[in-house]
Amino acid sequence: MAHGDTTDAAAARLAELHNHFREYQATGPQQGHATTVSAPAPMRLDILDHITASVREVAEHTLHANPDAGPFPERVQDAYAWMHSNLAAADEADQLRADAIEYRQYLEHCLEQRDNAAVRKEVRQLACPKCGCWGLMWSLEMGRVICSNSECVDRDGFSTTLSLARFAHARAVTRQKVRQARAT
Ligand SMILES: [Zn+2]
Repeated sequence: MAHGDTTDAAAARLAELHNHFREYQATGPQQGHATTVSAPAPMRLDILDHITASVREVAEHTLHANPDAGPFPERVQDAYAWMHSNLAAADEADQLRADAIEYRQYLEHCLEQRDNAAVRKEVRQLACPKCGCWGLMWSLEMGRVICSNSECVDRDGFSTTLSLARFAHARAVTRQKVRQARAT
């Protein structure tokens, strides 16, 4: 199970987001029962948008790589397992992209849950794809990954930064190399 750990992590986060939204719909803002003075938590419509966009991206990539993919699963959190099973025979590039999408979405789910610490921890677990050092940091302000190596800069002297998409792609490439090394 090459995808096991990431699939579980991303699926678990997506399920949490989905549950949050459904519970709110079930209980509602409780109008007419003002037994408490505290205002109800606002419904976070952005969570619904986030879930929809995430699932759509997974479905689009899967159907692009495998037009014969089976029907989309009933539970949103099963989207990743569905993608991987339908891409089992797809070429390396499509599988790599699937890994990168899933991992980037995992990080995005963490951010949607305002779990900045989880993203910071993930970012430290990959060497900088440009200089190879272990000094990557997550900047919430910039919404980007930054290399802390003072030598790792562009022509104008600015630190190397990576979007989450590029970071996730670099991680997927690293994992693919590990898998290929194991397979030979
Ligand atoms: Zn670097």
